[in-house]
Amino acid sequence: MTSDPLVERMRPFGTTIFTEMSALAVRTGSINLGQGFPDTDGPAEMLDAAARALREGANQYPPLPGIAALRQAVAAHEQRFWGLSRDPDSEIVVTAGATEAVAAAILALCEPGDEVVCFEPYYDSYAASISLAGAVRRPVTLRPGPGGRYGFDEDQLRAAFGPRTRLVLLNSPHNPTGKVFTRAELTLIADLCQEYGTYAVTDEVYEHLVFTDAAEPHVPLASLPGMRERTLRISSAGKTFSCTGWKVGWATGPASLVSAVMRVKQFLTFVNAGPLQPAVAVALGLPDDYFTGFRAALQARRDRLVTGLTEAGFDVQPSEGTYFVTADITRSGGTSGIEFCRALPERCGVVAVPTEVFYDDKAAGRHLIRFAFCKREEVIEEAARRLAKLKQS
Ligand SMILES: *Cc1c(COP(=O)(O)O)cnc(C)c1O
Repeated sequence: MTSDPLVERMRPFGTTIFTEMSALAVRTGSINLGQGFPDTDGPAEMLDAAARALREGANQYPPLPGIAALRQAVAAHEQRFWGLSRDPDSEIVVTAGATEAVAAAILALCEPGDEVVCFEPYYDSYAASISLAGAVRRPVTLRPGPGGRYGFDEDQLRAAFGPRTRLVLLNSPHNPTGKVFTRAELTLIADLCQEYGTYAVTDEVYEHLVFTDAAEPHVPLASLPGMRERTLRISSAGKTFSCTGWKVGWATGPASLVSAVMRVKQFLTFVNAGPLQPAVAVALGLPDDYFTGFRAALQARRDRLVTGLTEAGFDVQPSEGTYFVTADITRSGGTSGIEFCRALPERCGVVAVPTEVFYDDKAAGRHLIRFAFCKREEVIEEAARRLAKLKQS
């Protein structure tokens, strides 16, 4: 028994790039703009509600679909922001973050050999979840086009669909590119879903982070004609309320899809975050100015970082949303993002991540790296100052 005990289908997934880069940040005392977590706490009302719940006995298993107050808050939130109406009793399930919702959805819907259409670069858990299900990913490549805005080739998308396509896994606003899919792009995806009779699973954890200069506002795929009944919409509290460690997410959709997810989810985690669920219910009900204020603060940090990156000599792709911006290293003399990111901490004390690791088509991402700007203003300011050194060295 000397060989690797790990199952074959998980072997391609080593430790993630974040582990390597975060360790490098610590070792070199660098500013870590690699991993996307905020360095400040979320709204006080939410934190107070969590502390209260802890003290007042919300410490046992909540119900499998999540507590009623949170399901009602998710329903009210979807109605308020996206005009989607949901029955809190049958069309919503609370999950251990968006990550569990995505995993449970794929495990619930895909037979071995089924195909999942997704856009690369993709969030790192997608490929692993698809693989765990024995399904096959069919990536469609996002590439910077004119003006740096990311787009995809319509023919490549069409070619990704076939008789084994079970679902499309769509993340918009998109990590790591900062792309917000346009209505025209979503309509094309929706048409193909209907033509091939597939489901859609949408990861919308950045639904509230679309900047005022984005080409178009965020549109949930589920809100397009014919899509409500075939779409499972996923979101989470982590990004919107700066509490990535809480892992409170949810999936909404027609009762049949939600119930399929619940069937799997009950044997993954069963339930989670009992005392945090009432607190997230409070947060989802915050007035609009919380959401607009949060977005404006992030947008200002994006602008500061983009200025710094541009001055440092990078070609920066426009970030329309999310916590992230990507930059092309070619003009800065780089060819491999991985090598560039390994050297960056020594050169200037800043950590970024290569986006190549999120592509199957490695060549498409080799020259691109990602920076997170969900950090305090003074941290972004200092990072921008450090990056400016690249120009001199
Ligand atoms: C951060 C992130 C997640 C993870 O959400 P959790 O609620 O922490 O599980 C999922 N998808 C994308 C695209 C993300 O950036």
